[in-house]
Amino acid sequence: MTITIAIDGHSSCGKSTVAKEVAKELGYIYIDSGAMYRAVTLYCLRNDLVKEGVVDEDGLLRQIHNIRIEFRKNPETNKNETYLNDENVEDEIRNPEVANMVSPVAVIGFVREALVELQREMGRMKGIVMDGRDIGTVVFPEAELKIFMTAAPEVRAQRRYDELIAKGVSVTMEEILKNLTDRDRIDSTRAISPLRQADDAIVLDNSRLTREQQLAFVLRLARERL
Ligand code: C5P
Repeated sequence: MTITIAIDGHSSCGKSTVAKEVAKELGYIYIDSGAMYRAVTLYCLRNDLVKEGVVDEDGLLRQIHNIRIEFRKNPETNKNETYLNDENVEDEIRNPEVANMVSPVAVIGFVREALVELQREMGRMKGIVMDGRDIGTVVFPEAELKIFMTAAPEVRAQRRYDELIAKGVSVTMEEILKNLTDRDRIDSTRAISPLRQADDAIVLDNSRLTREQQLAFVLRLARERL
């Protein structure tokens, strides 16, 4: 059987790493739903739709139809990359400016509606691993396997810090920890599709697990359902 796998959880706990590896092992498509919210946020930042840290919702509503988000496979790396109106924005959407504004953009109802519709379309044929915050609860409530990932905030901040420093982005641990905890708070307390564990989700706390252990955990559960 071909199944749908939903991986939700807190910010920076390695959801995408596990999701990508699981997709690769099963020959499934991997979709990073957070990248879609980040691309909308980048559009807002570039088009003067963020004023003093506040999103101009009316302006964004007028322009939302101009925003086209796609994933295209990079033939060299074989990885999906995020495109915003035909421009490759895969790296830019990971910048701290975007990370700091993405949760306020993701609370907006019409943004979620548009992206959820796109996500469901991408998963229509199943054979997909999608990670995010509301995949098991809202986007694919009927997913055969739902994982809820988490890890201690300090562990998550350290991992994100190492990743950004390796990429040459200049940040401090304090900034990262604040961004993570702010995003978790906004994501968990918003009115529409808050981050929460689906009743039938299986928890994966990876504070003390290696990548291999996480992959084995999820793959075993997936294979039981194929
Ligand atoms: O997964 P990532 O950290 O890239 O997601 C960035 C942000 O996008 C999250 O903090 C959250 O605000 C938003 N998001 C969401 N729903 C999803 C995926 C991401 O609200 N399904």
